[in-house]
Amino acid sequence: MPYISTRDGRAPPARLSFEDALVAGLAADGGLYVPEAWPRFDAAALKALAGKSYAEIAAAVMEPFIENTLARDAWQRLVAEAYRGFTHEAVAPLKQLGASLWLMELFHGPTLAFKDYALQILGPLFDAVLARRGERVTVIGATSGDTGSAAIEACRDRSSIDIFILYPHRRVSDVQRRQMTTVDSANVHAVAIEGTFDDCQDLVKAMFADGPFRARLNLSAVNSINWARIMAQVVYYVAAAVALGAPERPVGFAVPTGNFGNVYAAHVARRMGVPIAELIIGTNRNDILARFINQGRMTIGAVEPSLSPSMDIQVSSNFERLYFELAARDGAAVAAAFRAFRETGALPASPALWQEARALFAAHRVDDDETRATIRETWRATGELLDPHGAVAVAAARAVRRDPQVPMVALACAHPAKFPEAVTSAVGFPATPPPRLAALLRRPERITVLPNELAAVERFVRERARRPQEVATP
Ligand SMILES: *Cc1c(COP(=O)(O)O)cnc(C)c1O
Repeated sequence: MPYISTRDGRAPPARLSFEDALVAGLAADGGLYVPEAWPRFDAAALKALAGKSYAEIAAAVMEPFIENTLARDAWQRLVAEAYRGFTHEAVAPLKQLGASLWLMELFHGPTLAFKDYALQILGPLFDAVLARRGERVTVIGATSGDTGSAAIEACRDRSSIDIFILYPHRRVSDVQRRQMTTVDSANVHAVAIEGTFDDCQDLVKAMFADGPFRARLNLSAVNSINWARIMAQVVYYVAAAVALGAPERPVGFAVPTGNFGNVYAAHVARRMGVPIAELIIGTNRNDILARFINQGRMTIGAVEPSLSPSMDIQVSSNFERLYFELAARDGAAVAAAFRAFRETGALPASPALWQEARALFAAHRVDDDETRATIRETWRATGELLDPHGAVAVAAARAVRRDPQVPMVALACAHPAKFPEAVTSAVGFPATPPPRLAALLRRPERITVLPNELAAVERFVRERARRPQEVATP
């Protein structure tokens, strides 16, 4: 499957292999990579997935996207290995909340949030491709909490990757810090910076801007816009739809949304032939997407903190992939629209484009009080404890779903024990930490604190990144 950039205005656009799109992440023209066409799963192909394990479904759903990047048996082994460490047999289990309302639990991976479902594939895939090319990379990222630990878990012990994650000293939660500082792997370096999250991000940008440093260490970003992450997220939509009766019976999904990656993956599943009748975007008070779908204007506001911090975002990077499709895949138009968005804070969208987006997605904004009320009511009615992000999805599903005959699946994107304050504020007690989290609290931490100075951070990275000869060959 060839990949093209959403901002390539040439006719025809440049076509990259999966492998090149994977390693590049972001296109040089600032666009995002998308497949040139959607692979199709017809009714017979969907039927053939019934009763299969999550890893089997995953290998089959992703295969057309990666084509022959890896031999089929090596690919199937990689996928099986990626999900082996998940702590639920079903990997992404469904729980029934009401007559036709379901919860899909996406928190059974190593860091207890849904980003593991994609990053656990991305890490070994990246490693396999780099090893074959004889390349090594130094992954550098800044985190305000959750993405850093998911990236660390994905990259730990990989021979072609060293990973350095900067986080603001004393400004992340205890659990978030421990998820990074208790990892005992020679290629993992979590670094506390004496500064804020913005300082950490500025240091990362400065390292990328330092040409000789960037080249010497072959820097790579932990970015949330890599196509491979979308591809891996398509899998659980297919698995849930098949479990609930696809291809005969359509389903709906309600997705707590920040960067638009997760709900966009559901849209990709629909384009591939999964009968998805309704797609609902749930947002918190940072509701730029809900305002766009309901009012037709996408204008940036200030990011405000909420009970669901992983959705405290104003610019949803992956929205550009949908826009590209709605703009008839006109790369020049997309480039111009997103340039204007950056300059003016408003994304140009014609009434026709807006109507098309509304036909594909419904959206609803859920404030903190409604989030708490949803956690409380769901606990009373079902005994299930929702995390604040999952609660936004459940509330949005209840508010705007159209057809109760279509089973609706709300996504629980994090384990409630990751957000003890929010859960306690709703029900009066925190969720019991699963064994993995409880064990984390007992492991020793390795904490490195560095000043907020580029030279000190670069020196640390240079000294700690492994040279090729230090990497054990298997
Ligand atoms: C990342 C994240 C989200 C938002 O997902 P997007 O793909 O960015 O829309 C929602 N909930 C949790 C728990 C997350 O970690």
